[in-house]
Amino acid sequence: MKCDICPRNCSVDRTKNCGFCGQSEKLRISKIMLHHYEEPVISGAEDEKGSGAIFFTGCNLKCVFCQNYPISHNNKGKYISVKKLVKIFKKLERKGALNINLVTPSHFTSQIVEALKIYKPDIPVVWNSNGYETSESIEKLKGLVDIFLVDMKYMNNDLAFKYSHANNYVENCTNAIKKMKELCPQDEIIDGKMTKGMIIRHLILPTHTNDSIKCLDWIYENLGKDTIVSLMSQYEPRYDAVKFPEINRKITPLEYKRVVAHALKLEMNNCYTQDLSSADSKYTPKF
Ligand code: SF4
Repeated sequence: MKCDICPRNCSVDRTKNCGFCGQSEKLRISKIMLHHYEEPVISGAEDEKGSGAIFFTGCNLKCVFCQNYPISHNNKGKYISVKKLVKIFKKLERKGALNINLVTPSHFTSQIVEALKIYKPDIPVVWNSNGYETSESIEKLKGLVDIFLVDMKYMNNDLAFKYSHANNYVENCTNAIKKMKELCPQDEIIDGKMTKGMIIRHLILPTHTNDSIKCLDWIYENLGKDTIVSLMSQYEPRYDAVKFPEINRKITPLEYKRVVAHALKLEMNNCYTQDLSSADSKYTPKF
């Protein structure tokens, strides 16, 4: 079968070849961990077990500034079966994970759906994706995923092409997010932990705060001011970012303040913000 699971629409037969994501049909994972550095409603308090994160190998974006490049670009990871993935869900549940956090899952949507149909965990399932997805593939997650933790990286297709080699990122990401909202229309947070809903993440890039502001405007106009948004300051120039002088640095306090001020001006009060000290490798798991 030719793969069209994401907007790349590579049309390769993944039983024989890999597409742009670098992965065949075989599930491949890089790391399983109890993760304490997601948003507080996902990771819980410091004395809690954290989010049960499963990092999938490969990625359909391949951003030049990728913070997880050993797994997304260099394909570090081991092959597992769908049955093994089910066992991992159960093991994370037994360890007390607050949720099952599927990190960069999009290119394995079919295999993950198969696993979740065999066993739907009792704890919330989080779809932690880059937003470059089709609304058709998101529809497959209906009733299987409880929380969408999704990136909105750009509101400008030229930037998406320059830094992520992606065509039509904006149309695909916004349609995918609208579909996610349709599947999980209501946010629910019980005792400080999210059980249902959506969080939109935006990593602010140096020099490109105008684009960050356009992302906020889109969210405000299309989803409303109560949307939960995570404004991330943790950008570090990694991987190939050195080739692009305008993004070959961390963001400045002024850049971050400008974006946060715009969110406040729109009265988007459900925004997570970060201390600028988050631009530190300790927030990125070692692979
Ligand atoms: S999931 Fe991979 S192979 Fe399939 S269309 Fe996307 S990038 Fe191509």
